[in-house]
Amino acid sequence: MPDNSGTPRDLRATAHPLAPYGWDEHTAEAFAPYGRQGLVPARVVRVDRGRCDAVTADGTVRADTAPVASPDPVRAVCTGDWAALDPGTGGLPAVRALLPRRTAFVRSASSTRSEGQVLAANVDHAVIAVSLAVEPDLGRLERFLALAWESGAQPLVVLTKTDLAPDTAHAVADAEAAAPGVTVLPVSAVTGEGLDVLAAALGGGTAVLLGQSGAGKSTLVNALVGQEVLAVQETRARDGKGRHTTTARELFALPGGGVLIDTPGLRGVGLWDAGDGVGRTFPDIEELARACRFHDCAHAAEPGCAVLAAVDDGTLPERRLESYRKLLRENQYLAARTDARLRSELRRDWKQKQALGRHMMERKRGPRR
Ligand code: GDP
Ligand code: ZN
Repeated sequence: MPDNSGTPRDLRATAHPLAPYGWDEHTAEAFAPYGRQGLVPARVVRVDRGRCDAVTADGTVRADTAPVASPDPVRAVCTGDWAALDPGTGGLPAVRALLPRRTAFVRSASSTRSEGQVLAANVDHAVIAVSLAVEPDLGRLERFLALAWESGAQPLVVLTKTDLAPDTAHAVADAEAAAPGVTVLPVSAVTGEGLDVLAAALGGGTAVLLGQSGAGKSTLVNALVGQEVLAVQETRARDGKGRHTTTARELFALPGGGVLIDTPGLRGVGLWDAGDGVGRTFPDIEELARACRFHDCAHAAEPGCAVLAAVDDGTLPERRLESYRKLLRENQYLAARTDARLRSELRRDWKQKQALGRHMMERKRGPRR
């Protein structure tokens, strides 16, 4: 891959050993007080009960997470977290603290549980894989977009299997219309089309892969990591979990830069709380709604409804309005089931941290185009 980082080689040679795992100025600053206490930084690559695997400057270690155990499930250690480790003397190293999370993917309340669960932390890019081997389901794409926006990560749509697509250009146009403001990249693991562009797009920061089972996520993980780390579907039951073949880790440093997280939890997403993410997925509809006569217009049958007018004159696909309504309904249902205290606490905490993270990232990389 071309080196366009702009960093001279001799400077990078002295970079922090955890830089390939996403260590940056922001992390360094957050970690500094722990360093003064003799703790060492580590990034969590996998979690089990009471233990985790974490990469440190000296390699991957097994660590005890009991010291940071919390009755609040969103405070539990998860893949992607930055930890302050006590190397210990004999015995296992112990996680003493977690650094504040920049972003987080949270599985919200299900019908049987009322607490959230964090599936991945400190994610910058949410890659949504959509297969072109079949007609893309744009409503499903919109749902994944809402989840991605809600996490604080920047979505990126990857249209996979272009080698099987009858009309890639058409599919790209449809996906772009369903994902305003989001980059859409066509790729094929068979021909290699677009993989270099994708690798470059993931070069800075941490990415997760979302998408329906069979969309080609495991194949993409292997292509990006450059190794068979996951078994693809021919050799596996159709649960979409992407069995790990050679390693149990869920976080990989990519050879071209950047980090990829792939956890079974993220694979198995059902109804997540998309929250504010729904609005960001449909900026076109929210914009139109500002011109509705009634400020609380439900865009159902109200007079002076600008949204319905746009459907009538063909500028807004009816499919998209229906998808918007459906996600809003679902979201309200989930919101009603979710512990209000937890939600507001998460929002306050993470939105603040996230704003700080963005600021730091922009200072480093220059403003987004
Ligand atoms: P996952 O469930 O999203 O992880 O999907 P997999 O990576 O397991 O892929 C599902 C199926 O699609 C497998 O049979 C793959 O070999 C196939 N596949 C993945 N990417 C491509 C591609 O770019 N082109 C073609 N033709 N098949 C692909
Ligand atoms: Zn309206």
